[in-house]
Amino acid sequence: MENVTRMGHAVCVKHTFEAAHRLPHLGGKCVNLHGHSWEVEVTVGAPRLSEGGTVVEFGALKQGVRRWIDLYWDHATLLGQADPLVGLLRETGSRVYRFGAPGDATGAELVGHDLLWPTVESVAVVLARAATAIVDELPGAQGARVTRVEVRETRSNTAVHEPEWF
Ligand SMILES: [Zn+2]
Repeated sequence: MENVTRMGHAVCVKHTFEAAHRLPHLGGKCVNLHGHSWEVEVTVGAPRLSEGGTVVEFGALKQGVRRWIDLYWDHATLLGQADPLVGLLRETGSRVYRFGAPGDATGAELVGHDLLWPTVESVAVVLARAATAIVDELPGAQGARVTRVEVRETRSNTAVHEPEWF
């Protein structure tokens, strides 16, 4: 039987950002507030190319993904909503992005409302959702969608998220 999820074409956009996070629920060294030079790659696929020969308008995809990251995550601290550092950092004017955000969250934080902590896996899911919203607004091939997001926090730690069909 043919694999219906197999994609015919794909384009990839890469970006990097600097951000701190910590994972107090896990124990070990990740309890400490620490930073990474995060590297991300967003892949958009489509079964067939558009009439113009594209999966999606490349420049607009790149601009959209990079702008979202630069606005919300670059030089930010990624924290779980339950982390007591949230209030402290916000009071000092620091950029904070909360995972597991409550009702008073902004639109960007609502993207990660059901992911309680900023693990590399959760960062990949939030980025996939944000990128999906961007792709939905762009001209491109019919059925173009985010098929894969890769997030690297260190040379040895990479998470891959492949959103399901829906
Ligand atoms: Zn880390």
